[in-house]
Amino acid sequence: MNWDEFGSWGRRVSDWAQDYHLTVGDRPVRAQTRPGDILNALPAAPPNTPEDMEEVFRDFEDIVMPGITHWQHPRFFAYFNSNAAAPSVLAEFLVSAIAPQCMLWQTSPAATELETRMMDWLRQSLDLPDGFAGVIQDSASSATLAAVLTMREKALNWTGNSAGLTGRAQLRVYCSDEVHTSVDRAIWVSGIGQDNLVRIPIKGDWRGMDPEALDAAIRADKAAGLTPAGVILCVGGTGTGATDPVDACLDVAARHGLFTHVDAAWAGSAMICPEFRHYWPGIERADSIVFNPHKWLGVQFDCSAHFLRTPQDLVRTLAIQPEYLKTHGHDGIINYSEWSVPLGRRFRALKIWFLLRAYGLEGLRNRLRNHIAWSVALHDQLAATPGFEIVTPPMWSLFTFRYVPGGTVDPDDLNLRLVNTINDDGRIYLTQTRVDGDLVIRFQAGQFETTEEDVMMAYDVITEIAAVLK
Ligand SMILES: *Cc1c(COP(=O)(O)O)cnc(C)c1O
Repeated sequence: MNWDEFGSWGRRVSDWAQDYHLTVGDRPVRAQTRPGDILNALPAAPPNTPEDMEEVFRDFEDIVMPGITHWQHPRFFAYFNSNAAAPSVLAEFLVSAIAPQCMLWQTSPAATELETRMMDWLRQSLDLPDGFAGVIQDSASSATLAAVLTMREKALNWTGNSAGLTGRAQLRVYCSDEVHTSVDRAIWVSGIGQDNLVRIPIKGDWRGMDPEALDAAIRADKAAGLTPAGVILCVGGTGTGATDPVDACLDVAARHGLFTHVDAAWAGSAMICPEFRHYWPGIERADSIVFNPHKWLGVQFDCSAHFLRTPQDLVRTLAIQPEYLKTHGHDGIINYSEWSVPLGRRFRALKIWFLLRAYGLEGLRNRLRNHIAWSVALHDQLAATPGFEIVTPPMWSLFTFRYVPGGTVDPDDLNLRLVNTINDDGRIYLTQTRVDGDLVIRFQAGQFETTEEDVMMAYDVITEIAAVLK
């Protein structure tokens, strides 16, 4: 296939994409294939001679599409949504056509400068103070790793990268049990070690870290000759939306001079609405904050916004400048590859620009507010339905529940069967989590095209299937 044929295929692909998005609600949300189905339908060896695009495209529809779980389905209520609003998909199409590698300012000045501007637009959208500077990371996991490496270097007075960790007092990092597993992995990869990730007990409806227990843990570690390095907070944890008391925890961290990172990968998008900012009072004092515009905000995956109060600390931790990466003769330019672990960078700012301009903040706020209102309405209905109990209350659009009709012997088994049967049915898609050891079902709404009817259909499907479970 040559570029002179690209236009006709490109038109066909964009028509296909439009039709897909307009009709995806008719498909089962979760793929209904068995393990190996797709693998076995694929030839074991690569083709030796060119094949017709027509055949490739047909196999894409016949072999690949049945094995897709439809993340853009309006009744995808599992995990957290990973939205792909139409304007951001268009931007990605353009980016994949021009395919720049944006590691340095000079390898595409427009990518760097648009990124600077877009991160500042997002900063303003969240009402963070103008001292914060942002960078787009490929994932929240990468942002958290970069933050942990920064807290490690600061705690070691910038000698960890050169001298390693051997023969020093153990570094200690503090968080609750509700943080995402990306925190554990950042601790492993940074060499700090799981045993030095200190879990602080939680309390209250928000399932947030107890600041007094945090303070006590840091004091005990100091007394034992260990080296506290930083505190990782969550605002909108993955399981139940757990949210630490940001103000009080940042107070404790400041008292001990510790670096702080806030993981708001999902809930950060909601902070474009002023009425939700009470969930992170004092956030302007955090050192590092991550949220994923590729989740709730509608930017096509992947796009993670990482804000830093003192970006020099991050750059000091991660920048390497061999001669061939230097940009001579330009002062004051930013090379964003110095702000992240990977060197190569995609042009991700374009899709933020397209999205924000196509919807405006008000258009995005309306969507999020609807998702939350509809989710709360569903919560109210389930709470009033005999046999169902709410386990954790709505945090934004996320709540958890269980089905425990009278005489239930093994509620974990019943709820696991309920969620599996619902997902086999295909009309909606839910996932489970554990709360204080119990298996519970999560519900969250956040798909861009979801409607009130879609959310309310979840009530019908859940209660209808529960009623026939033995
Ligand atoms: C989704 C999520 C992550 C991980 O995000 P990636 O971008 O996939 O690395 C981390 N923390 C929280 C709270 C999340 O919801």
